[in-house]
Parts: sequence; C-alpha cells; structure tokens
Amino acid sequence: MKIICVGRNYTDHIKELGNSIPEEPVLFMKPETALLQSNTPFYYPEFTNKLHYECELVLRICKNGKYIEQKNAANYYDAITVGIDFTARDIQDELKKKGLPWEKAKAFDNSAVVGKFIEIIPNINGKGINFSLLKNKEKVQEANSTQMIFSIDRIIENISHYFSLNIEDLIFTGTPAGVGECFTGDVLEGFIETQNLFSVEVK
Ligand code: MG
Repeated sequence: MKIICVGRNYTDHIKELGNSIPEEPVLFMKPETALLQSNTPFYYPEFTNKLHYECELVLRICKNGKYIEQKNAANYYDAITVGIDFTARDIQDELKKKGLPWEKAKAFDNSAVVGKFIEIIPNINGKGINFSLLKNKEKVQEANSTQMIFSIDRIIENISHYFSLNIEDLIFTGTPAGVGECFTGDVLEGFIETQNLFSVEVK
C-alpha cells in the first residue's frame, strides 16, 4: 500500500504558511513505514526541533484504478477517517528554500497517524464533512470538507492520472488552518463530527 498526500488544499492554511494557491493538487507520498500502527507509541523524532501536527481527512481506496474520471471517483473509496500528517517543519522549510524534495520532513517513520475508519457518508461533496483536532482537550483545527480547493473526487482524478490507485491505499486530503507545534506529553485527538477516531500522545 502507499499513502498519497495532498498539500495546499485549504486557502486559510496556504495563507498561514505564506504559500500560493496551486493550479492543480500538490502531491507527495509517504511510504508504508510512515503508518503509525495501533498500540504503538509516537515518539518525538530526534532530528527535528519543530514538529507540527496537520489534521486531515483520510480516504481509504477500495478498488484498483487508473485514469479515474471525477464522475466515477466515488466508486473507488469506501471509508473515511481523520489522521495526522506529522511534519518536521524546520526541515521542510530548509528543503523548500533549496527546492529539494520533502520526504525527510514528511515521510519519516510513524509520520502518518490514521484514525478508525467509518463508512463514507453519501453525497460527500455536497453537504461536506466536519472534522476537528483537539490538542490537550483544546480545539486547534476545525474545518469542513467543502472548504477544500480540490474536492475529494477531483483529487482522485488527479492522483490516478499519475499513479495507479490500489485497494488499501490511503489519501490524506490536506490540512486546514491551525497547524502548530506539538511537544512531548501533548495528546492529540481527531474527530469527524462528534466521533473521536484517534487519540495519540507524543512521547
Ligand atoms: Mg498535510
């Protein structure tokens, strides 16, 4: 399986990091080793001094496909959750300055937290899905999927133009505003609507 992530998909987050609005989805990947297994602790990585959380909606692919059209995209995912795209922001800033790839900042071991999957809500691109992140019981990120610049179905179309999608692949759909640092001892909890789908402590 592979993990495909979308960057810069919410206008307010693009502004907070001083980036520009992309004309097509910004994509990067995390390897399977990035997936934090359940019942495994998350340890603050020793190579960063600025670890950021990014809470995102995560889709699970249920059908193999390539060149998927937007109108058929909903047949290719069957479950959704929230997750964290952990980012070593100090390293990413350095890499961005030099125009280098982001993997050291984004694809390290355990950098992908994925919550418990729930069945996809019908008409996902109509009404939208509310999701949020609590840090130490305080809400730090909150958004609705309709605020995405590229909708879920457009993301599927774009990704599958470049990469075959396979059953069990995961797609991180981008983070809204409110990203920030986390420190040892912080507890991060992800929600879709009122359902708590993950809780992770930074050790
Ligand atoms: Mg992200």
